[in-house]
Amino acid sequence: MSKNPKVKKQKEEAETPEEEILFTSLRASDWGEFYGQKNVKESLKIAIAAAKKRKEPIEHVLLYGPPGLGKTTLSHLIAKEMGVNIRITSGPAIERAGDLASILTNLEKGDVLFIDEIHRLNKVVEETLYPAMEDFALDIVIGKGPSARTVRLDLPPFTIIGATTRIGLMSAPLRDRFGVIHRLSFYDPKALEEIISKAAVKLKVPIDNASVAEIAKRSRGTPRIALKLLKRARDFVQVKSDGKLAKDSVKDALNLLEVDEVGLDSSDVRYLRAIIEKHGGGPVGIETIASTISEDIGTIEEVIEPYLMQIGFVKKTTRGRVATQASYKHLGIRFSGEDKKNGEQKKLL
Ligand code: ADP
Repeated sequence: MSKNPKVKKQKEEAETPEEEILFTSLRASDWGEFYGQKNVKESLKIAIAAAKKRKEPIEHVLLYGPPGLGKTTLSHLIAKEMGVNIRITSGPAIERAGDLASILTNLEKGDVLFIDEIHRLNKVVEETLYPAMEDFALDIVIGKGPSARTVRLDLPPFTIIGATTRIGLMSAPLRDRFGVIHRLSFYDPKALEEIISKAAVKLKVPIDNASVAEIAKRSRGTPRIALKLLKRARDFVQVKSDGKLAKDSVKDALNLLEVDEVGLDSSDVRYLRAIIEKHGGGPVGIETIASTISEDIGTIEEVIEPYLMQIGFVKKTTRGRVATQASYKHLGIRFSGEDKKNGEQKKLL
């Protein structure tokens, strides 16, 4: 790893240092341990094989999708498969063009530079990145005023892997400089079950199939949440029972964590109730919802809404967010027919 302080173990992927160690220790170390996302995997494998054949670094890769779906893990796998080093940084950590220059000039031929939250790069840094991505060159301005001149510095060929939860916030010129772009989608229960079973073996936690299925069902289609719930359930049974994860104890543990049977937690429920109870089911603008529940708009858009939309509990319309009939049913609230008024199908989803 580089000594550059801007290149460090990135982001708040875990809530506690202990969880961070857990996620790192459970990180898939080869393709066989990376479950689901079949198309993304296949297409990355092809891009890697082609690059190796040409003896070139793999093209710049952009991975996007909600947090916890495996963007960082995939980046590590790509670097491993290419047999190169991976350097890790994030958009907000690169404050000045000089920071970027020092990171890039420290790369070795073929290295992967992983930039998490790439949508948060500032404009000056972003513009410095363009020639670096295109021509493997840095244009450095020396001096100030009329005597300023630009010097072009050649860089060894390398690969940027950008990750973002907000592709819509990325500028088109930056997006266009990535040759390979993949969206990671939520995982189906089967893939989550494989991830949970594998992690339970690694953690040496005895677990039955029903418990695996129960955790998978409540994980919002997200491996990181699945692993977190597994860990919390393990802690629970170690304290409350014989240490074995069986369906009833897992249910008790998950209920205690306020994760309901479709994976909604208290923030999701507050969000839905705000739309339904305070704003007649919608349509209501995201700013209004955010201030009603005192939540940050970014968190709502990145973390809360994608899954609620995926399971058909919320719809985005031009006039704002609308809670669907399915969400009323889930919360046990009588549906007043607002959905129909908004052109929503009345059928349950
Ligand atoms: P992101 O970068 O998208 O936020 P991470 O790559 O940090 O997500 O993944 C979070 C955790 O979930 C890691 O511990 C990782 O090993 C695990 N994980 C993610 N995707 C998979 C997968 N497809 N198979 C197995 N484990 C996965």
